[in-house]
Amino acid sequence: MSARWETVVGLEVHAQLLTRTKLFCGCPTSAGAPPNVQVCAVCLGLPGALPAANREAIVLGVRAALALGLTVHEESVFARKSYFYPDLPKGYQISQFERPLATGGQLDLETSAGPRRVTLQRLHLEEDAGKSVHGHGGDSLVDLNRAGVPLAEIVSAPDLRSGEEAATYLRALRDVLVFQGVNDGNLESGSFRCDANVSVRRQGSDTLGTRVELKNLNSFRFVQRAIEAEARRQVALLEAGAAVDAETRSYDPEADRTASLRGKEEAHDYRYFPDPDLPPLRVDEALLEAARAGLGESPAALRARWTEGLGVPAAAARTLASHPRIAEFFQRALALGADARRAAAWIPTEVLRGAEIDGLAATFRVTPEQVTELLALVEEGVLSGKQAKDLQLEVEGTDASPRAIAEGRGLRVVADEAALAALCDELIAGAERQVAAYRKGQRGVLGWFVGQAMQRTRGAADPRLVTRLLTERLDKPAS
Ligand code: ZN
Ligand code: MN
Repeated sequence: MSARWETVVGLEVHAQLLTRTKLFCGCPTSAGAPPNVQVCAVCLGLPGALPAANREAIVLGVRAALALGLTVHEESVFARKSYFYPDLPKGYQISQFERPLATGGQLDLETSAGPRRVTLQRLHLEEDAGKSVHGHGGDSLVDLNRAGVPLAEIVSAPDLRSGEEAATYLRALRDVLVFQGVNDGNLESGSFRCDANVSVRRQGSDTLGTRVELKNLNSFRFVQRAIEAEARRQVALLEAGAAVDAETRSYDPEADRTASLRGKEEAHDYRYFPDPDLPPLRVDEALLEAARAGLGESPAALRARWTEGLGVPAAAARTLASHPRIAEFFQRALALGADARRAAAWIPTEVLRGAEIDGLAATFRVTPEQVTELLALVEEGVLSGKQAKDLQLEVEGTDASPRAIAEGRGLRVVADEAALAALCDELIAGAERQVAAYRKGQRGVLGWFVGQAMQRTRGAADPRLVTRLLTERLDKPAS
């Protein structure tokens, strides 16, 4: 895209709150049931049925708002948003409009262009609609199991400047919600959904262009690519002297293009008004307390604590703070006495290799106890890194103690300095060419020597000791 144009993006995220029951009735929210069994008079919108707000959903909504630094309002109001669609049996969605649950927060991002603070305009509660299932012969069917499932809608200011930044924002937002246990962060299943408002303007301009809403972006990659494709389309239109229409569009990943769905509705099209069946929502001290009680440390705070306090490298800290169960694994290992840096190097590769992550749940093939023992055995010089990896493969899926196995086998690192010194002498005597290269300044050759020593001892040598012995010999001037 021409550098004379700037992309402006604001995102609306719908995050399913992880309650057992729906927002205004007692129907279960679990997925996978046959169509239209998790329904009642309230969520079917039968005449005369009365909704009652679910306290669990409000607690989770307030917790999300607090974690994102929004101001939670003591009183907010449920409103009816009227529109017609087959999956909306009442003819309106219960949402919040003029008086949302919370307003005015922020989310800090690290982007390729440096740190960026994104303003969060609001977080409000609303119910989900049902689902139209197309393609039953020529028919479309409706499943209302999802109708009435609680959602938090989180709206950002138009602070994002590229598809990449939008994807970064979404990941950061998802991490916060997942860490607080309010959402499972699953884009594919639709429990974390994103619409993007995209416009373009000339570089340096401070007025906003006409915005287009992109619907149903169900992966981080599609969010980025859809925004990029839409920005290119808008720039081409404007450079050709045409105008951008305010409309709602969808993204076709195959063609890498957006296509018009419908004209954009304005707020007045929905005829919002306060729902007369629901009293104003009051967030009292007891409710705030319940929300605060479950408030955990944010991924950003964990990363800062681990990098600044424990010397964990930033990349490892990002991986360890990418999921609450991974963070727990790391923290448990620390509590058991594992060295922070060793654990931070080991877990992202050796533990996550066999891990299965599904929403908020994660299954690991080893336990923090086993990993802590393995790392201690390495630190004590009983095992080399290579032997520890092999031993981990053996204990995966069992509750066996690596220490007991290592001791039972009499495993130990060759840390016998005299034996290793003799080996180093032998290696150096047999590698004249490499020795000469090293002494001419090719310091990388040292790695080759260490590799030879490890090979000759089948990985059992203490690599630190070998490195020291080799360096001492190689750095001696040729006699
Ligand atoms: Zn129901
Ligand atoms: Mn909404």
